[in-house]
Amino acid sequence: VTVRERLAAPGPHFSVEFMPPRDDAEEAALWLAIRRLEPLRPAFVSVTYGAGGSRRDRTIRITERIAAETTLLPVAHLTAVGHSVAELRQVIGSYAAVGVRNILALRGDPPGDPTADWVAHPDGLHYAGELVALARSLGDFSVGVAAFPETHPRSPDAESDLRHFVAKMAAGADYAVTQMLFSAGDWVRLRDRAAAAGVGAPILPGIMPVTSLARLRRICELSGQRLPGDLADRLAAVDGDAAAGRAVGMEHAVEMARELLAEGAPGLHFYTFNRSKATLDVLAALDWAGPVPAAALSSTTTSGLLPGG
Ligand code: FAD
Repeated sequence: VTVRERLAAPGPHFSVEFMPPRDDAEEAALWLAIRRLEPLRPAFVSVTYGAGGSRRDRTIRITERIAAETTLLPVAHLTAVGHSVAELRQVIGSYAAVGVRNILALRGDPPGDPTADWVAHPDGLHYAGELVALARSLGDFSVGVAAFPETHPRSPDAESDLRHFVAKMAAGADYAVTQMLFSAGDWVRLRDRAAAAGVGAPILPGIMPVTSLARLRRICELSGQRLPGDLADRLAAVDGDAAAGRAVGMEHAVEMARELLAEGAPGLHFYTFNRSKATLDVLAALDWAGPVPAAALSSTTTSGLLPGG
């Protein structure tokens, strides 16, 4: 099964992102999250690709374990940064060898200081679109890409960023996943601009409840997004009260998810940081249908995961 096929079934879908764990304790937490989310049948679960050899090997190992030991469909992220084309071919080959046929193709940021100048490997690729084409040339992979509703921080302007996004999709991407969103309107604008430029493939909005002002500031600093004023004000009003901050973050995420679904979002992609609770709470608040029999899922008339009333 590929993500392409999963997303072609009636939606809306939900999907989650995990990170390769750094030690045994983190790995145990990840597996707990996986086991708790598994019964809700996400369309796919993606595993990020870190900088440095050992983190990278862990991405391969975790995606392999998810494919072998769970009913979930793993998507392996892959970044072009720091790799020769020969190495990228080899990593894609390792994914294929363990049965992982779904790849999220990214350019990656410079390791260490993500704001440093981006320098291509002398025998490597320059842009994610080239990695999409490489993966597609190596076999029957379903490939996804990243999308930036607020424009990628390295882009000189929104027009060129959209043009490159459209080209990246045309290189063979089946779907895109956005950076963490704070407003449904940002997703609607990207979807509409992409559609006007001929992109019909699903663009999945990225969601994570943010539960403190400090965390929100840090996320925006790292991603180059503007600080969302309304959420920042709501979090500032409860600063120092962890439980109240959590309630604000959840409320904001649920409101945004409702708006996204009402606007026709094909799914919701949750940034989990390897925990299940926030995702499960948002889905519960949306009355997302619970576990369904596998037979219902294989039917073409229902995804089995329609948000109920
Ligand atoms: P690209 O699509 O290559 O775009 C980068 C910049 O180049 C943009 O400004 C774009 O407009 C421009 N551009 C693109 N094509 C061209 C062209 N042909 N000519 C000129 N300019 C062009 N990072 C990790 O290290 N590991 C991960 O697992 C990871 N997962 C992510 C998942 C998601 C959903 C998202 C949104 C991001 C993720 N990232 C990850 C971060 C990502 O690697 C960085 O944001 C990176 O800076 C951009 O990657 P990209 O694939 O969008 O790059």
